[in-house]
Amino acid sequence: MPELPELEIVREVLQRRVVGATIDAAQIIPPGGAIVVRDLTNEGFARLLTHARVNAITRRGKFLIFGFDSLYLAINPKLTGRLQLCAPTEKRMPKTHVIFSLSSGDELRYVDQKRMGQLYLTRDLARVPDFSALGPEPFAISREDFIARLRAYRGEIKGILTRGEFIAGIGNAYADEILWHARLHPYRKRTQLNAEEMDRLYVAMQSTLRDAIDQVRVEMGEQIHLKPREFLAVHMKSGEPCPRCGTAISLVGANQRITNFCRHCQPGGLIRGM
Ligand SMILES: [Zn+2]
Repeated sequence: MPELPELEIVREVLQRRVVGATIDAAQIIPPGGAIVVRDLTNEGFARLLTHARVNAITRRGKFLIFGFDSLYLAINPKLTGRLQLCAPTEKRMPKTHVIFSLSSGDELRYVDQKRMGQLYLTRDLARVPDFSALGPEPFAISREDFIARLRAYRGEIKGILTRGEFIAGIGNAYADEILWHARLHPYRKRTQLNAEEMDRLYVAMQSTLRDAIDQVRVEMGEQIHLKPREFLAVHMKSGEPCPRCGTAISLVGANQRITNFCRHCQPGGLIRGM
């Protein structure tokens, strides 16, 4: 699942290589394309986007927003969606569902293994599901506001961090990383955290994401369909030594909802399902 650090670098690359270009053709490849494309304008996805000039590309939470003249394309890649920027001659990856041919000569492709992501075409971003409810960006909130917002929640801290309406852009992987840096057990209840621990969480959120952005920039380069995660400290590192203390990294959960943490560095919390 792309999260804030990956999407931020995708945005940087697209900013450099796509903004200013015009879409010469937009191709929806059935059957997957019909599932991921949501035309909220009802005016025709390919029809509206053909000859449209990309004026701006921004990121908000886990959405990438392409801005055209009074028109937006909001891409939410969810768990398995990726964008790929390449030459038209490059072999298509399996599960390529949408292809934009750009006046720059590149193709921008949307690839999604499980077709869980969405590409919303709209004239009004408020109509995009889950978009208006997004909380603040992690780098755009003060320590005081972060802690005040946090106090409104009572559940487990990892669950709170991954709620887009609390704070935007953090998913399963980076929640694990932030909590490891903050030395907080992922299943501790927010109500159990003292002021110093909430403060630590704020600091770790910003530093973890900032460092990850720098690392992803180096590892991803122009290959925006990649998801470099090898450098992470704990997420998907079950059984490997904790980089801080050497204790084997613990694993709870399965499939897409895996939680990894270090029992030694992140003490406390009742371990569910064990
Ligand atoms: Zn440790």
